[in-house]
Amino acid sequence: MVDLNGQYQAIKEQVNSSISTILETSAFINGADVKEFQKELEAYLGVKHVIPCANGTDALQIAMMGLGLKPGDEVITADFTFAATVEVIALLQLTPVLVDVEPDTFNIDVAAIERAITPKTKAIVPVHLFGQCANMDAILALAEKYNLFVIEDNAQAIGANYTSKNGKKQKAGTIGHVGSTSFFPSKNLGCYGDGGAIFTNDDELAHTLRGIVNHGMYVRYHHDVVGVNSRLDSIQAAVLRAKLPKLDAYCDARRNAARKYSAAFAGQAHIVVPVTTNCTSAICENCDCHVFHQYTLKITNGKRDDLVQHLSDKGIPCGVYYPIPLHRQKAYLDDRYNEADFPVTNQLIKEVISLPMHTELDDEQIEYITSTVIDFVNA
Ligand SMILES: *Cc1c(COP(=O)(O)O)cnc(C)c1O
Repeated sequence: MVDLNGQYQAIKEQVNSSISTILETSAFINGADVKEFQKELEAYLGVKHVIPCANGTDALQIAMMGLGLKPGDEVITADFTFAATVEVIALLQLTPVLVDVEPDTFNIDVAAIERAITPKTKAIVPVHLFGQCANMDAILALAEKYNLFVIEDNAQAIGANYTSKNGKKQKAGTIGHVGSTSFFPSKNLGCYGDGGAIFTNDDELAHTLRGIVNHGMYVRYHHDVVGVNSRLDSIQAAVLRAKLPKLDAYCDARRNAARKYSAAFAGQAHIVVPVTTNCTSAICENCDCHVFHQYTLKITNGKRDDLVQHLSDKGIPCGVYYPIPLHRQKAYLDDRYNEADFPVTNQLIKEVISLPMHTELDDEQIEYITSTVIDFVNA
């Protein structure tokens, strides 16, 4: 599904030399690379504050802690996503409220968000799934109307752009009150272990977050709030510093592969290719709104499960993200949920399949993958 070695080969000298400096100087924690990476990422994203932390799940949790959300507060998020988002909501004893998604973008459905808002609702967590932003204009409008926080889970869309109706272009994760991301190795900007970060333009919130990641300390050994220990280590920061200047090129490589996939699948009756909604072109011809963390098809003639088996027989990796909706996961069952409230998610889990997507895909691989998929789906 992912090929990380090609990227490593291209940055090997820089990475090896930075890591060996860290080993020689023992600056494992809070070394210069962490500070420098923070500044470089702030500049790249055009955001005032980046707060590095240990992973993307912590980033979400710390963001929610920083906003002062209290047990019993309701937080609305998508039913069709990775469990980390709902997990931290539950862990903080907030009440997760899962809602359905849109059939074309797989992102949270704004009408469903509005239906789920109650007097206890305090925040919305849009997950920018598979590499493109949820409908942030509409989500921010709802947030303003109902006085809610917006926390963007940007683990899958770092580098993506979002152009608002007023023409303003911003990086995914910097649009709401606070955003989070993950540097897990297979993410679009991945380190060689775990890593994450929180983004905000709010000075006061940034200050609060910097204390929370460090045991609630603002002055050494003075613990003003309950915090956590969540650090990006220097070695990971050094890897990320080598990769960040290449992030736009990585995004372009993914978009190129996606374009080739979609061109090959064009006109196929039972194969629905991913759409990009924040740009003018159906397959993201000249735009930068989708960074294709995943390239996800819908197979509409009931052959998805058999296709998964067939591809595996042919030596082609693939994935089903996500096979079980969060509202049906044992840990997150809630009497308030009704199957009828999740028609789109319940359909998507039967139809979606993600194909190999990374920066090293070549034409021959794409041709083999697409012809294998087309032949099987039409057989
Ligand atoms: C990967 C991911 C996370 C969690 O990131 P980790 O660094 O693995 O903790 C959270 N949300 C989404 C949508 C993700 O894809």
